[in-house]
Amino acid sequence: MKWIDIGINLTNRRYQKDRPQVIENALIAGVEKMIITGTNVNESKKAFQLTQSRPGTLYATAGCHPHDASTLNAEGLTEIETLASQKTVVAIGECGLDFNRNFSPPEKQITAFKQQLELAVKLDKPVFLHERDAFDTQFEILKDYMPALRGAVIHCFTGTAQALEQYLALGLSIGITGWICDERRGQGLYDITRLIPDDRLMIETDGPYLTPRNLSPKPAGGRNEPKFLPHIAQTIAQAREQSLQQVASISYTNSCTFFNLT
Ligand SMILES: [Zn+2]
Repeated sequence: MKWIDIGINLTNRRYQKDRPQVIENALIAGVEKMIITGTNVNESKKAFQLTQSRPGTLYATAGCHPHDASTLNAEGLTEIETLASQKTVVAIGECGLDFNRNFSPPEKQITAFKQQLELAVKLDKPVFLHERDAFDTQFEILKDYMPALRGAVIHCFTGTAQALEQYLALGLSIGITGWICDERRGQGLYDITRLIPDDRLMIETDGPYLTPRNLSPKPAGGRNEPKFLPHIAQTIAQAREQSLQQVASISYTNSCTFFNLT
């Protein structure tokens, strides 16, 4: 079986010491392709540089996370545009709204989000979306842009059945992480994952974060890695009453098509 991790924060310093080994172990586990999340201008640059070391395996997104929205200026936007015109940069993002802790003021988040959506339309690239405690506002903005966008995936979806239905109706794809492996806070997600149509499902680790809680033995230091993607997929398969093979096949095909991976 082959897999694609559509959201891995491989530039994170928790991979600093052994990044090549992390990639090697992912490949051994069947994770053939990884899309490195660009969370701000600097991280997006680093993510792009990493893709150059492993063509056909590593890809990246370029964008600015809502936490960093207040740092995004005209110069930064131009840098994102330049990065996004590279072949290995396959989406704009992560971008969106996060009203949970408001590290950037909501107005600034909204501006940065719209700027990146406009860029995605201009460059004809899909968007890799983040959203937390901001569904209504994010949904209203997306409604305006979706018709012109090439595609949108809501990464690390953990919302309600109603939010899921609305995103699906708008045409979004859904990224599921190891959140689903958490028997306490992930139960709601487990119960609704079967509602995602086959052609809208993608999977991701969001490493080094969101280590699946049902991993045994627990990884040293509690760090999540792309090699755990098949483990997460096992829980997804269970929740969807599908075989692991099926989940591998549909998520792989969806990711290749959505991000235009070659
Ligand atoms: Zn995110």
